Amino acid sequence: MYDVYRIREDFPVLREVVYLDSAATSQKPVQVAEAVQEYFTRYCGNYGRGAHRLSRRTTEKYEDARETVAGFFGINPRCTVFTRNTTESINMVALGLDWKKGDHVITTVVEHHSNLLPWIRLQEKGVEVTVVDSDMHGIVTAEAIEKAITDKTRLIAVTHVSNFFGAAQDIKAVARIAKKHGIMLLIDAAQSAGEIPLNLDEIGCDFAAMPGHKGLLGPQGTGILYVREPERLQPVFVGGGTVQKVTTGSFTFDEIPSRFEYGTPNIPGIIGLGRGVEYVKAMGVENIEAHVNRLARECARRLAEIPQVELYGPDNRVSLTSFNVENINPHDVAMILDETKKICVRSGQHCAQTALARLCIAGSVRASFACYSTMEEVDLLARSVEAIAKSFS
Ligand code: PMP
Repeated sequence: MYDVYRIREDFPVLREVVYLDSAATSQKPVQVAEAVQEYFTRYCGNYGRGAHRLSRRTTEKYEDARETVAGFFGINPRCTVFTRNTTESINMVALGLDWKKGDHVITTVVEHHSNLLPWIRLQEKGVEVTVVDSDMHGIVTAEAIEKAITDKTRLIAVTHVSNFFGAAQDIKAVARIAKKHGIMLLIDAAQSAGEIPLNLDEIGCDFAAMPGHKGLLGPQGTGILYVREPERLQPVFVGGGTVQKVTTGSFTFDEIPSRFEYGTPNIPGIIGLGRGVEYVKAMGVENIEAHVNRLARECARRLAEIPQVELYGPDNRVSLTSFNVENINPHDVAMILDETKKICVRSGQHCAQTALARLCIAGSVRASFACYSTMEEVDLLARSVEAIAKSFS
């Protein structure tokens, strides 16, 4: 039985605030903080370099984290690359594939800038980019994506869950289409990893980019890149940690996935991420999914009762609710919620300007939920928004 009140005991900061900004970054359980502290106080060394005991222990723990993450997503540890964040993961793909002039990439209008700009920039190399439209609720159909395919299409880059609309795309249908046409598929799972069960091997995507610092409850500065066929991807950065044999004129790459993990990685972060994933596994990702969706949908239902509120996203929204209050700038709404009730929500453009432009709006307020959020918090938010709406109308 999913006991959110028991879970909250592991998140002491939640005694201080009403945290409804988990789509930006999540709060961390004490177990993650302890794993990071244990690294610093008991065995701090560098990864993969050196024979001494601290280095060996560090390397073991880092690789344990890789096993944990890979197991969680049903993928081979060899295909599991640790990065700094989702943005880095996506850029590593955009910059690591050998593009030819005339190649074609398909992405969508609802993407976070991190899954749009790396593709738009490829236009400088002569790559053509099609940005597929969504409906008014942020849904992009697999049929619309299929229609955009040409004989030059090499990659489809699509978000799983929009961080503005809270709309979940049918990525299994998109994967079937990509496979049918022999096109690579990259999934931006920033908003679903740890909150929707994801077996990446079963889905059959070529790449998946994820943050460690959101649904997986890991520290900031951690991300994951899943690469189904790592041999096809060139490392973007080279230097220490990426090579085997070096001469004054040449070098050979290290094993996979080390060749992609340049320099000293965020070791405490990755060890904390491994612990975060264990914590998520123990709660059950299906339970988390049911919990956050129930909260997001109830939040939408309550806000829809307020005449001055405009809501965005589909009825079957996932984990978050974006909205505006008539006559009030979203930043002002967020500031009042914080100052009067210590409610932390996000306001602004959510790094998704094309998604907002789709609705001809300049910004929104966004309440987003995680494994530790409660219905009481939804109720407090709805009552507080209602009070703000009344006082400004
Ligand atoms: N894609 C989506 C859908 C996101 O929500 C975010 C984070 N808001 C990102 C990409 C970028 O993630 P990161 O900050 O880990 O680079």
